[in-house]
Amino acid sequence: MEPNFIDIHTHTTKSRDNLIQIVNLDLNQSCPEQGCFSYGIHPWALNNTDFQAEKALQALEEKLKLPQIVALGEAGLDKIHKASFERQIELFERQIELSETLQKPMILHDVRSHNEIIALRKKHKAQQPWILHGFSGTEQDIKQLIGQGIYLSVGESLRNPERKIHKSFKFIDLNYLFLETDMAEISVEMIYKAAANLLEMDIVSLQKQIFANFARLF
Ligand SMILES: [Zn+2]
Repeated sequence: MEPNFIDIHTHTTKSRDNLIQIVNLDLNQSCPEQGCFSYGIHPWALNNTDFQAEKALQALEEKLKLPQIVALGEAGLDKIHKASFERQIELFERQIELSETLQKPMILHDVRSHNEIIALRKKHKAQQPWILHGFSGTEQDIKQLIGQGIYLSVGESLRNPERKIHKSFKFIDLNYLFLETDMAEISVEMIYKAAANLLEMDIVSLQKQIFANFARLF
């Protein structure tokens, strides 16, 4: 039977029946044998005084060889974080290369960096799927990102009518949609419900659509 729910990005290892989740782990955490996981070097890591890029990249490469590591992430760019943007780009580009060589899709952290992310996808002629997680942008952002073949994952912000994603959500091509809980301590089911509501579709059709997207990528 197909699992009912897919949580494309979460930080909790708690699981249950009828749920596939990609659990994001830190490089210093070991990986369970069962399940789907992602490892990456978050741009915020650059701010740790003891961060060593080469060492981290080497550790990441080793992790990514494990079959249960299905994606590289989070990696990406964050314009409002204090880590040098130049160094963020450098680190991100190294991870794009790893994702391409080891053929693992990427889960992206993107804060006000759509343009740079798109430019780097083009520069590296990246073939691996990219999933931008925690998306909450406008209709225009959606067109721009999906136009470049980038998948969008939406989380808790869907439940907040004040957020702009409330209005823009219906413009996401469903073939490019994922849902996630990320850090939120709610079940992904609640996000599915909010999404189905906004799309005026039933949960089962939404589950089928997202399962099909997942099966295409992983
Ligand atoms: Zn996260």
